Amino acid sequence: MSLPEQLHKLQRIDLDLQRKQQELDEAKNRLSDNKALVAAESRLSSEKEQLADLRTSQKTSEWELEDLQEKARQTNSKLYGGTTKNPKELVNLEKEAAMLKSQISRKEDPLLGLMSQAEETAARVNASAEEFEQLKEEWQQRQETLGLRKSEVETVLGRLGETRAGLAKQIDSEVLDLYERIRLTKELAVVKIERGRCQGCHITVPTSQWQKAKAGNIVQCSSCNRILSLE
Ligand SMILES: [Zn+2]
Repeated sequence: MSLPEQLHKLQRIDLDLQRKQQELDEAKNRLSDNKALVAAESRLSSEKEQLADLRTSQKTSEWELEDLQEKARQTNSKLYGGTTKNPKELVNLEKEAAMLKSQISRKEDPLLGLMSQAEETAARVNASAEEFEQLKEEWQQRQETLGLRKSEVETVLGRLGETRAGLAKQIDSEVLDLYERIRLTKELAVVKIERGRCQGCHITVPTSQWQKAKAGNIVQCSSCNRILSLE
């Protein structure tokens, strides 16, 4: 294999390495991306908190209502039980009974409101819990697939790295340096001559240069500096 051909092969390996490295980076990024899952979990926990608050308010309201109902029951039994004869006391009891009745009716509507709010929130909690479970399952499956992909790519990268090192050892270090320098600014450091033109910049390559390259010498395009290869 001539020197330009060796460099061309090295370049193919380097391009493969680049692609595989990108694949690896992408797999790693996707492996660590759990934003949707975290968002679903935090939504679920905030809805659970809302539900707990509503249930507490509901309980408090129920107790207060029971308390008032008990008081009303006692007042009514005093009022209608026949044990109270004093007219003034009876009037007071009537007033108290009426007051309790209105307090009870003022409590009932908000309690119904709380109950229906709690029901709606409970339904939302169920839906969010289902969504979270589904996302978690999908995430776990994806972790598995991506984990496999990652180790496959890492194996390929390891192999390519070894092949590259073996090939690079055979190439003169000055030529290797030249190749590396060009690769810093251009994706392709080695390009073919096709129909007499440099495939990097499409300028016509003089016949003398073309012949030198053909003989296996390192020839750079006079226009773009890339190394010319016939292979
Ligand atoms: Zn060129």
